[in-house]
Amino acid sequence: MFYDVIIVGGGLAGMRAAIAAHDAGAKVGLISKIHPVRSHSGAAQGGINAALANHPQGKDDTPERHAYDTIKGSDFLADQDAVEIMTSAAPGIIFEFEHWGCPFSRFEDGSIAQRPFGGAGFPRTCYGADRTGLYLLHTLFEQVVKRKIDVLYERFVTKLAVKGGRCAGVIVMNLHSGEFQAIGGNAVIFATGGSGRVYSVNTTNAHASTGLGVVIPYWAGVPLEDMEFIQFHPTGLDGSSILMTEGCRGEGGYLINNKGERFMKNYVSEKIMELAPRDITARAMQTEINEGRGFEDRYLHLDLRHLGAKKIMERLPGIREICLNFKSIDPIKDPIPVHPAMHYTMGGIECDKDGMTRVDGFYAAGECACVSVHGANRLGGNSLLDTVVFGARCGRHAADRVKKMSQTVDTDTLDSALKEEKERYQRLCSSSGKENPYTIKNELSQVMMDKFGIFRNETDMKKGLDEIKILKERFNHIRAIPDTGKFNYDFLWVTEIAGNIEAGLCIATGALARAESRGSHFRIDFSKRNDEQWLKHSLFTYAPDAPQLTYKAVTMGKYKPEERKY
Ligand SMILES: Cc1cc2nc3c(=O)[nH]c(=O)nc-3n(C[C@H](O)[C@H](O)[C@H](O)COP(=O)(O)OP(=O)(O)OC[C@H]3O[C@@H](n4cnc5c(N)ncnc54)[C@H](O)[C@@H]3O)c2cc1C
Repeated sequence: MFYDVIIVGGGLAGMRAAIAAHDAGAKVGLISKIHPVRSHSGAAQGGINAALANHPQGKDDTPERHAYDTIKGSDFLADQDAVEIMTSAAPGIIFEFEHWGCPFSRFEDGSIAQRPFGGAGFPRTCYGADRTGLYLLHTLFEQVVKRKIDVLYERFVTKLAVKGGRCAGVIVMNLHSGEFQAIGGNAVIFATGGSGRVYSVNTTNAHASTGLGVVIPYWAGVPLEDMEFIQFHPTGLDGSSILMTEGCRGEGGYLINNKGERFMKNYVSEKIMELAPRDITARAMQTEINEGRGFEDRYLHLDLRHLGAKKIMERLPGIREICLNFKSIDPIKDPIPVHPAMHYTMGGIECDKDGMTRVDGFYAAGECACVSVHGANRLGGNSLLDTVVFGARCGRHAADRVKKMSQTVDTDTLDSALKEEKERYQRLCSSSGKENPYTIKNELSQVMMDKFGIFRNETDMKKGLDEIKILKERFNHIRAIPDTGKFNYDFLWVTEIAGNIEAGLCIATGALARAESRGSHFRIDFSKRNDEQWLKHSLFTYAPDAPQLTYKAVTMGKYKPEERKY
């Protein structure tokens, strides 16, 4: 099987890339381990940013203001040229979705509704109630179907076929049949989403967001970037960590401690309060809990009651439904118990503004990629935007490039990669080890939460890194998986866990090395940002024992680093 452009991932980034590559004339194959409309993008709630200036308090908004807020929010680690590309493309991207029939919420005058989000100077987050991701995802899927793009779903990609610095395609397991298959392509785009499940004890991310998608290229020689920057969302639902969107606070929700105080006034200006950026709000919440002002030493209250039933039912119906179903509480009458939960990976596969990586023919887009537009801390509403802006650029670039190439299938490279994967499968099925891989995974996520969470310090991180290395060694001795053939989910999960461990090693190595605090990376032993030494991106290159760590310059522009005050 051969495609001009292979896309791995059926979320927003993958489908937008597929549409762009198809429209530029390429034969596209879209591969996904789950059905595209079940991709994690569908869980996005609050909205997508674009300086449309529709909101009465946002009339002076511009893409330039959006860029400034994003760069300041990133604690000046974002590449400024990439941010400017994203914010200036944003209005056009929203109108394109509108023309494709995306059911955005509307203001009375019919214009697309916008709500305030954290760290934004103006209300610029466009939304469809609190189901924005779902609406965007279905809109793109319709466009994929309309174009008759080949969608190969329930195909699990396990390896990149790379030789001599050139990517020849991917190796997949067809989950339906259990067969391995090599798929050749002149370009391969990874759009495999985030790595939240590395922190599975406390994350808003779905089980599909494992991190294997960044680790497959890393194993094949593609560097990763800025892996230590992990976003904790302030409001995960107590117990399950299901996200309570920032839109709750955008619509006017309060955060309350056990003294009945809106405590954010002690951390940021009274003008900003609950709408501070996520890194600052999550730290404030964890401080309240650590200092005994939480409930049951665990959570705080997100109070929506003063918004009234009409606004809650109209703008936040999904949040109400989740609270009723998972906590048996009604936000119209009850405060919501929330605590910070791991939410987003700012780092990922190192790539340029067209998604190109250092391996010829291999691209990345969406949450698995690091362009970098989020730097050390992403602003809410900017990730959906990142997926579609850079998904489209990447798809277009890959298609334009491969159109000039002949379709020569590199059979040797594909065959040898296929053979390696079949042999790995056999080794897993015949292992004589005793270790339970799921115990290793649980231990890993506990280490990540305890040692690489919101507050970090050298002693704990050194211990944590050693613990991860031991888990990696134990993983070499896992018990055999059953050779079930069809729908071998044991094989899938064990492969994902190998990716979790490797991603965890990168996060830990980067965090321990970075002796400063910047955005989401907060060290109690180095509590200040240090631009002189650390205004640089971390780069991780695979080596069998531990990642090799190097650094590269941040692309600066007109915005000079300044102290972040809100
Ligand atoms: C609960 C929640 C709410 C959010 N709300 C917002 C919001 O309101 N606004 C905002 O801007 N951002 C939000 N985000 C972030 C945003 O939703 C994500 O960053 C974004 O949707 C990721 O899209 P993606 O296309 O990169 O990946 P995904 O949508 O995660 O898609 C990944 C795809 O890759 C496929 N895949 C992965 N690995 C493999 C493999 N090995 N083989 C084959 N296929 C594979 C999967 O099947 C899937 O189709 C939210 C995140 C969460 C967790």
